[in-house]
Amino acid sequence: MMLNSAAPAISIAQLNHYFGRGSLRKQVLYDINLQIDRGEIIIMTGPSGSGKTTLLTLMGSLRSLHEGSLNILGTELFDASKEQMLLTRRNIGYIFQAHNLLGFLTAYQNVEMALEIQDVTAVEADERIREMLAAVGLEHRMDYYPSDLSGGQKQRVAIARALVSQPKIILADEPTAALDKKSGRDVVEIMEKLAREQGCTILLVTHDNRILDLADRIIYMEDGYLVDRSDVAAIVQ
Ligand code: ADP
Ligand code: MG
Repeated sequence: MMLNSAAPAISIAQLNHYFGRGSLRKQVLYDINLQIDRGEIIIMTGPSGSGKTTLLTLMGSLRSLHEGSLNILGTELFDASKEQMLLTRRNIGYIFQAHNLLGFLTAYQNVEMALEIQDVTAVEADERIREMLAAVGLEHRMDYYPSDLSGGQKQRVAIARALVSQPKIILADEPTAALDKKSGRDVVEIMEKLAREQGCTILLVTHDNRILDLADRIIYMEDGYLVDRSDVAAIVQ
């Protein structure tokens, strides 16, 4: 796939999205317009049910666009083929609320999986996995299974897994929701530091007021409308 290196990371125009059919059809996203530059760290917040996850999965090329334009790294996803959607996904690291680690694989093996579709030698892969797990403070836990790790440690493995392939974009959906205050902030600080080092763009959905200061920009979603406002910190207090 041609990646246009001058294009913004994410550019969305006049996007509408619906769930259901016929008389049950319900609009959940209204006229979304958003531009995110490369390397920007954006936090999206707003009430539950307002459409944040839906927008995130559209940006992640995980569901098809209904109306409007959504351009990821220079590739238009409106009317994109399955193959274009798949190729776009290779440039994106995903972190979800539940860490989604595979229980029968060790921390090392969970991170390794993310490199399997990438074009790296076994030696290079091993080096990158070790480096990434060390970067999230788990150098002594590489051979542990998820059940033997704390919530914060599991989420740090998920971060290592998302970043090891050096994606251009990280999409994180409430990654601290299952964590206590301290480990939630730790996890996001690690993510932010690594992403800044790699020049990676982050879009992070959260309800967690205590991490809003880590963002370059905060956007607010309510009832399917996106509001770009700098006073959002006051709103969500
Ligand atoms: P948020 O992440 O902000 O909590 P969501 O994007 O999950 O919001 O949901 C937005 C709206 O879309 C909600 O009203 C939700 O009930 C609805 N919705 C989400 N996913 C589906 C689905 N798969 N089918 C039908 N409605 C859905
Ligand atoms: Mg959600």
